[in-house]
Amino acid sequence: MPAPPPPPSLPPGAALLLDLDGTLLDLAATPDGVRVPEGLPATLLALRGRLGDALAIVTGRPVAQVDALLPGVPYAVAGEHGGAIRFAPAAEEERVALPPLPPSWREAAAALVAAHPGTLLEEKARGFAVHYRLAPGAGPALERALAALLDGQATHRLLPAHMALEVRPRGADKGTAVTALLARAPFAGRRPVYIGDDVTDEDAIRVAGARGGLGLRVAEAFGDAAGVRAWLGRLTAGASMT
Ligand SMILES: [Mg+2]
Repeated sequence: MPAPPPPPSLPPGAALLLDLDGTLLDLAATPDGVRVPEGLPATLLALRGRLGDALAIVTGRPVAQVDALLPGVPYAVAGEHGGAIRFAPAAEEERVALPPLPPSWREAAAALVAAHPGTLLEEKARGFAVHYRLAPGAGPALERALAALLDGQATHRLLPAHMALEVRPRGADKGTAVTALLARAPFAGRRPVYIGDDVTDEDAIRVAGARGGLGLRVAEAFGDAAGVRAWLGRLTAGASMT
């Protein structure tokens, strides 16, 4: 793979909106297996200070997991793919009303994982993900089974992720999360710079571009999460960005 072009500098008045897994953190075999690299929290805090607090994490994980991984670091966290947002450091998370997951689907997902050794069911507040990183050959069969499960309904969608398939309600995504963040201080009036690595980041990348900012894909702009971290580190060494 050729080396990616050098990533752009931050535009004036930027807000940084960052995906977590695969963007700031290296992907792990399981969601619990991720590791926060030494130095990342300090880098993010320095950037947050320079951006007038306008630094948020936008992820599929629950807000509480982000705050456990990066305590006190982001000003705001949009979790559950836009389904829950904590807009300020001490604020309660605000939950978006979304269609509930049919209970029988959780049972079906558990049976599916049991039938494919090495696959892993990740329960989420609004849906679930089936991971097959440890059983890569199971991907097509899982996708067929989940597509059949969701066939004929309009409330939920099936989304491919890195070696995983996720079932989520319609009505919230990372794009609606970016729009919600940009409606409030300290993000309002700033140019969103969104960075993400996955299919679910495309909604946010589109919104960031439409709002006068930048939407950057990790593989294209940075190579990998280590490339993103190196770029963020270089930004902290630069001049004031507010
Ligand atoms: Mg990601």
